[in-house]
Amino acid sequence: MNIIEIINKKEAKEELSLDEIKYFIDGYINGEIKDYQISSLLMAICINGMTDDEVINLTDVMLNSGDKIDLSSINGIKVDKHSTGGVGDKTTLVLAPLVASTGVVVAKMSGRGLGHTGGTIDKLEAIKDFNVEIPHDKFVKQINDIGVAIVSQMGNLVPADKKLYALRDVTGTVESIPLIASSIMSKKLASGADKFVIDVKVGSGALVNNIEDARKLAKLMVKIGSHYQKEVVCVLTNMDEPLGNTIGNGLEVMESIETLKGNGPDDLQELVITLGSIMVSMAKNIDITDAQKLVTENLENGKAYQKFEELVKYQNGDINNISVSDKYISIKSPKSGFVKHIDALKLGELSRSIGAGRYTKEDKIDYGVGFKLAKKVGDFVMENEELIKVYLNEKDITASDILNCFEIDEIFDETPQLILEIIR
Ligand code: URA
Repeated sequence: MNIIEIINKKEAKEELSLDEIKYFIDGYINGEIKDYQISSLLMAICINGMTDDEVINLTDVMLNSGDKIDLSSINGIKVDKHSTGGVGDKTTLVLAPLVASTGVVVAKMSGRGLGHTGGTIDKLEAIKDFNVEIPHDKFVKQINDIGVAIVSQMGNLVPADKKLYALRDVTGTVESIPLIASSIMSKKLASGADKFVIDVKVGSGALVNNIEDARKLAKLMVKIGSHYQKEVVCVLTNMDEPLGNTIGNGLEVMESIETLKGNGPDDLQELVITLGSIMVSMAKNIDITDAQKLVTENLENGKAYQKFEELVKYQNGDINNISVSDKYISIKSPKSGFVKHIDALKLGELSRSIGAGRYTKEDKIDYGVGFKLAKKVGDFVMENEELIKVYLNEKDITASDILNCFEIDEIFDETPQLILEIIR
């Protein structure tokens, strides 16, 4: 067996065997197979796809390439939530304490920002002294004590994905359904939870921008889960405009707090209630309407926010000290009309350019910068009325760059739906 034969086989649209998949992953990890050879194979996979059996085998080989987290010493069914990544996606900050406030344990390992999308761990670090690096024994103790923890990935989890993902990022091979499905599911399966809810973002600000591909990805992840006897529920949600009103780390924490107090923006609130109800019903084995009642009550009665306070305190954070720049500019609409489109991808990129995200691993994030939308898609704006506030520190931005992200029109047909489909 050699790598050139494997590349040629995929180029000819043939199915790779388990041994061949193991051969190229092992060879890539130990350095015998080179980046340029794997790049060529990844491109062949992007173009010619993979059969479901190949995807399951790839997931299995990646899953077994490193450590697996053991959560068996935590009582109760552990339901994990994952998002395929979006702009303004602060869902985990609200969802984890909300679900935990109903008595369901939430053992959450999250990531940092990737490309134009933000990451939960970066957002939490906008809270002064919040500690995200927690060893396994303390992680388990915290969950047994207060029912929730959000930490950055521990151990050597799925090293094959780490190496492959970094290569995909720079070779134009991120947007492949088999590669996305195996990458996400190998990490989820290694994280030790019993069941999974996956928020599959669809739209211009997401990795997958049409509903057909999102369905294929969701069905594939459900199938991989069932191969391991793990229940997976995928919720397809709109990512054509940013989620909520804020983009940027400190601003998103502030908005999450408002949402936990029951005063969040409609779309974020709808999303956390939908995902939270599914998680609670899966963990407690109860009807979805009963779960929804519990979740909605806890957003209104202060219990979800109390759980967030407990979480922040346990992880050493100072909830009264969240980075938000005091320097901001207000961008006004050049004309009256309905906001027809807000380009999530462009705004995500612009937020990165003012310091809210990284271009290289070494870049330092500016937690205080970002955007606060005054108008969302479907809203009417008057000429000279505020569209968005831009919070800045060291880097500047022009009003025209921001205005290019908005489309304003005299007519507006219908407000886009947030929850598009649930696939299980
Ligand atoms: N998120 C992942 O973890 N992997 C992908 O390939 C895409 C999104």
